[in-house]
Amino acid sequence: MEIYETLEEQAFRKEFRQWLVQYLPEVSADLHSLQDAKMDPESARRREFDRLLYRHGWAGLTWPREYGGRGGRLYQLLIFAEETARAQAPEVFNRLALGIVGPVLMRYGTEAQKSHYLPKMLASEDIWCQGFSEPNAGSDLAALSTRAIRKGSEFVVNGQKIWTTLGQYADYCFLLARTSPDKPKHRGITAFIMNMRQDGITVRPIRQINGSQEFNEVFINDAVISADQVIGDVDGGWDVAMTALSFERSTNFINRQVRLTEDLTRLLSYARAHREHLAGDLTEQIVDIAISVHSLRLTVLRHIAELENGDRIPGPENNASKVFWSETHQQLASLALAMAGEQPHDAEYSQWAFSYLSSLGESIYAGTNEIQRNIIAERGLGLPR
Ligand SMILES: Cc1cc2nc3c(=O)[nH]c(=O)nc-3n(C[C@H](O)[C@H](O)[C@H](O)COP(=O)(O)OP(=O)(O)OC[C@H]3O[C@@H](n4cnc5c(N)ncnc54)[C@H](O)[C@@H]3O)c2cc1C
Repeated sequence: MEIYETLEEQAFRKEFRQWLVQYLPEVSADLHSLQDAKMDPESARRREFDRLLYRHGWAGLTWPREYGGRGGRLYQLLIFAEETARAQAPEVFNRLALGIVGPVLMRYGTEAQKSHYLPKMLASEDIWCQGFSEPNAGSDLAALSTRAIRKGSEFVVNGQKIWTTLGQYADYCFLLARTSPDKPKHRGITAFIMNMRQDGITVRPIRQINGSQEFNEVFINDAVISADQVIGDVDGGWDVAMTALSFERSTNFINRQVRLTEDLTRLLSYARAHREHLAGDLTEQIVDIAISVHSLRLTVLRHIAELENGDRIPGPENNASKVFWSETHQQLASLALAMAGEQPHDAEYSQWAFSYLSSLGESIYAGTNEIQRNIIAERGLGLPR
């Protein structure tokens, strides 16, 4: 199926593509010259790319102009993702800030919070993490036990977070903590902006199955948050958290879906190149995956159109896309790994191994696929619990 872009969209694509050709080599320059030498090289490269985008006015494509964004349409985010993937540019580093916390602050933040934090998010000056999950509160997020106790004009926070992506680099944490233990569990939680650069915060990286260390344990011991750093209402954090998760499952997945299409292209060229050496006929499996990838692309396009047509936050239909995307990626990476494993192990094999091991977390983060299925059943289809 052919998607016809408007003249404006075509012009946007052309301009961004040309920009990438001209400026992307700046990011691939000698890593020693990068400002963030204390970061691992890939993170440093990604942050440098964020800053380059910002300097040239490409950061916050869909953020309103009043907050420093480009005021663009959601479809431009898709073009952006396609062109960066095509040019093999890094993925956005400060993605939790740009994709989740920023839009949440626009909706729930005070004017002071917006004017202080949003510009620094865009510039990738402040890195943000999301402190929701705890050792005993993942799927059942409302069971979280990190406590925030009000003392005068401040809250004092104690507890532990886990699986905190980018925690080791973060300047701020979008934190959920319990403020009223006597209220029903969903009604006693507050969302905060917590400064990560203070005494009382200890971050311990966790090594993932793919070898990288993206997420962390975060220990919070008498950390202090000023009362004006509450997001929304005290005890109103559940609504804030649900809005955040709906952003995480929708706009953030535009980029992931595009990367999946790129992976399919790589898989197809690999299958063609090694046709004679592959055991058995893999055509049927490859065709099934290709159909899924194309269906997902059309579904994402439909979501974009729906979201652009009305001022509403993403709804339960995005849960289906999250399940479909993560499972398709796992099938694709698993098949590619099996194919590459039949050859002497080379760089291609290492790339697919990394891709496969990374894909395993995709059916877990932003809510596991079992939880997504529960939501589809109850809220989407109206089935009983
Ligand atoms: C790569 C990655 C990055 C992450 N980044 C962050 C981050 O930045 N910030 C953050 O706060 N968290 C983050 N997480 C954590 C993630 O949100 C949780 O892992 C997830 O919500 C699941 O929680 P859990 O690990 O405690 O598993 P559990 O909730 O203990 O679930 C264990 C198993 O039981 C199943 N299960 C649980 N309840 C039900 C139910 N009611 N019905 C059916 N099945 C059920 C689950 O599906 C799962 O299979 C990240 C996770 C990963 C993998």
